[in-house]
Amino acid sequence: MRPFLDGAFGNPSSLHHEGRVAREAVETARAQVAALIGAEPDEIIFTGSGTEADNLALIGAVRASGGSGHVVTSSIEHAAILETCRFLAGSGTKITYLPVDADGIVGPESLLRALQSNVTLVSVMAANNVVGTLQAILELAHLTKLHGVLFHTDAVQAGGKVPLDVNQLHVDLLSLSAHKLHGPKGIGALYVRNSVRLSPIVFGGGQERGLRSATENVAGIVGFGAAAEIARQELADEATRLEQFRERIATELGRVLPESYIFGHRTQRLPGHLSFGFRGQEREVGRLLAALDASGVAVSAGSACSAHHSGEPSGVLLAMGYDSERARGLLRISMGRFNTQQEVDRFLQILPQAVATVPRTSIPGHQPGPDIRAAAHAGGVVGENRPDLRGLRSARENLCRPESVS
Ligand code: PLP
Repeated sequence: MRPFLDGAFGNPSSLHHEGRVAREAVETARAQVAALIGAEPDEIIFTGSGTEADNLALIGAVRASGGSGHVVTSSIEHAAILETCRFLAGSGTKITYLPVDADGIVGPESLLRALQSNVTLVSVMAANNVVGTLQAILELAHLTKLHGVLFHTDAVQAGGKVPLDVNQLHVDLLSLSAHKLHGPKGIGALYVRNSVRLSPIVFGGGQERGLRSATENVAGIVGFGAAAEIARQELADEATRLEQFRERIATELGRVLPESYIFGHRTQRLPGHLSFGFRGQEREVGRLLAALDASGVAVSAGSACSAHHSGEPSGVLLAMGYDSERARGLLRISMGRFNTQQEVDRFLQILPQAVATVPRTSIPGHQPGPDIRAAAHAGGVVGENRPDLRGLRSARENLCRPESVS
């Protein structure tokens, strides 16, 4: 990125030498981002963020449809999707929210039901930011395609962490954000299949195939391209390494801290992501976070975007069937390519000490409810209304080995 922050200030739309240098750098990065998801370079539209990519996908598809539209999405999407849906609903778009089971997985039955009506676009995230669960994107996109409906996936969390191939997965639109794969903040991309018609949401000079007018953020785009290239090369090894870290932490949690319980699917989840809570300390996550922070461990409570609402139950956990007490008490660790085994060891030393410093609260009238800890550690579920998922292939399998669908 440095040359483009320090001297190479050409505008990629300019025809002079400096402009051509910038254009070449942008196009190299476009090819690098495309290669990460098996797309053609001209199917990548650079945006200012993952949020903007999500907005463009949903609003762009509804506007291009010529009517008020019908968007089907899941109940555990990121605010970038949920708030866009709220905006669209205000202008008359019908929105259907698909339920999830206690692991946070969208079942194909509810999607099939939703597809019985006239649908403009289905949008289901590839990986959830709060609980890390991977969705069976291949199966959901395949069903959607059979109904001739567009499929978008918010792959901001999944991009560069699990294999994604837009053609094998049958997706038409896919959102990415550079900072989730060690690139710079403030740069995202939307994959737009060549056959898909979208209307822009930003108007001006017609850059990015007219879908995202504005002079390109050349340094950001170059950084995104480099990050995508490294992620693509190291994805398989990194996923294995981070999965080992995650499993070690999950096992130790169950062994050393029996009051702990894990949120999300036990195995069908992002390699370096684990979210958990502590029975009886649900209201104390803020103190736990502060105790860990004081020891040099950076963890999150819920999603970074909702951190300012901290103390409120997580909408994702409520949708998964947790009661409001449990849904308050989520801690999330995210590990990446710079985390080491030593750091994992250190975390496992510090965590029990931090937990011991935080008081237990008994909550008046609060029933512990079903044994979430035991169920979650076993990869099981809680709640009465769990859809029958026996026929559903593993979400991970669907994401990683798309050719398995006939
Ligand atoms: N979608 C998901 C699933 C996310 O986790 C995030 C950010 O955390 C976004 C969208 C928004 O991306 P950005 O921060 O680039 O706007």
